[in-house]
Amino acid sequence: MARDDKNSAPFLISGGGIGGLVAAFALARQGFAVRVFEQSPEFREVGAGIQLGPNIFRALEKIGLKDAVLADAHRPPAQEMRDALTGKLITQVPLGPAFFERFGQPYAVTHRADIHGTFLKACQGSPLITLETSRRVDGFEQHADHVIVTLEGGERVEGRALIGCDGMWSGIRERIVGDGKPRVSGHIAYRAVLKRSEVPEDLWRPDVVLWAGPRTHFVHYPLRRGELYNLVAVFHSDRYEEGWNEVGSAELLWEHFKGQVPEVLRMLERIETWRMWVLCDREPVKEWSKGRVTLLGDAAHPMLQYLAQGACMATEDAVVLAEKVAATPNDLPAAFKAYEQARYLRTGRTQVMARVYGEFYHARGVTAELRELALAGRTPQQSYDGIAWLYGGPSA
Ligand SMILES: Cc1cc2nc3c(=O)[nH]c(=O)nc-3n(C[C@H](O)[C@H](O)[C@H](O)COP(=O)(O)OP(=O)(O)OC[C@H]3O[C@@H](n4cnc5c(N)ncnc54)[C@H](O)[C@@H]3O)c2cc1C
Repeated sequence: MARDDKNSAPFLISGGGIGGLVAAFALARQGFAVRVFEQSPEFREVGAGIQLGPNIFRALEKIGLKDAVLADAHRPPAQEMRDALTGKLITQVPLGPAFFERFGQPYAVTHRADIHGTFLKACQGSPLITLETSRRVDGFEQHADHVIVTLEGGERVEGRALIGCDGMWSGIRERIVGDGKPRVSGHIAYRAVLKRSEVPEDLWRPDVVLWAGPRTHFVHYPLRRGELYNLVAVFHSDRYEEGWNEVGSAELLWEHFKGQVPEVLRMLERIETWRMWVLCDREPVKEWSKGRVTLLGDAAHPMLQYLAQGACMATEDAVVLAEKVAATPNDLPAAFKAYEQARYLRTGRTQVMARVYGEFYHARGVTAELRELALAGRTPQQSYDGIAWLYGGPSA
């Protein structure tokens, strides 16, 4: 039943990435009308993989999208970390029945285009959602009972509230939080996706495998029910560029990975074209709403990818936001405050811990030895206990 049939304006969403689409869908499920403005000429995601912890499935289950996301995904039997200089197994975490029993949800890996496509299809199926491309949000005004958004070209659109889902370089954040540009981590990710037939048979693994090297790491896992293979190589560098789809130079990559085990080098050799991400994040903040405007996903709490959680957190945000809005639909500033209060410690902890995990993956010398000592003797249950704060949520 639509709540917006009495001349009330729709929610306006800036950005149609994973966060914007799942927020639109979660709000529409609560009966609210939504308009999504995406600056690109089409709704699409870059070609790369994404890991999905059990916490995203807890959120997706609430909005009825869990099975659709799982349908295209691959379910890895285990995660393992290996030393990229010796090949030695550092730790292995089973992701099968014992994991499911502990967290009540699966672990999966999927193509970004697949999860984004699932959210897009869900939104297209809702009569309450309007999806608009080539529409860049350039500014906004707040009034007592509505907002006005200005689009590129000058058109003014009225809404009951604005949700900034405009990513790491959010212009809306600049007006709400005002903390300048994102922090450059000094790490760069190179990524590529291969067909299964392009991966040498002896190198293909069903697991999520992470090769930890000095100031580098390399991750690979299957995608799309095992038909594709995702590769991400990360190394230290001080480049800074906005966006995340540049072509990366292979020479630069080889400089950082030379001397690593043949399994790593043979896999890296398979790649003809790398796409590059300059990895950035921000310090966590406690407040990202002002009146009828709030932020969600990377716009609110951009994080490094070392816990594989940015899209998971955006999805959790969306579900909590829609619940808070449904609880006080006539007081949206209060609903947005309640949403941000429910979220900031969990997302802030994930931002901070992602940095720690990055240091851990890229350890050298004695620190690398200490990492091995800390992880080597762990039982699966101890590994699960260590990550339960993240995978066991969200509790709000
Ligand atoms: C290398 C790497 C690996 C990762 N791996 C994982 C993982 O395994 N698991 C995981 O959960 N997360 C992962 N992440 C994080 C995840 O990709 C992001 O957190 C997630 O995509 C953020 O979604 P978003 O919708 O908030 O922002 P974005 O995906 O950045 O979407 C923002 C959208 O807003 C649009 N936009 C921007 N400005 C405007 C404007 N003014 N007007 C209109 N539209 C606008 C953009 O065009 C874009 O479509 C990874 C990230 C990286 C870099």
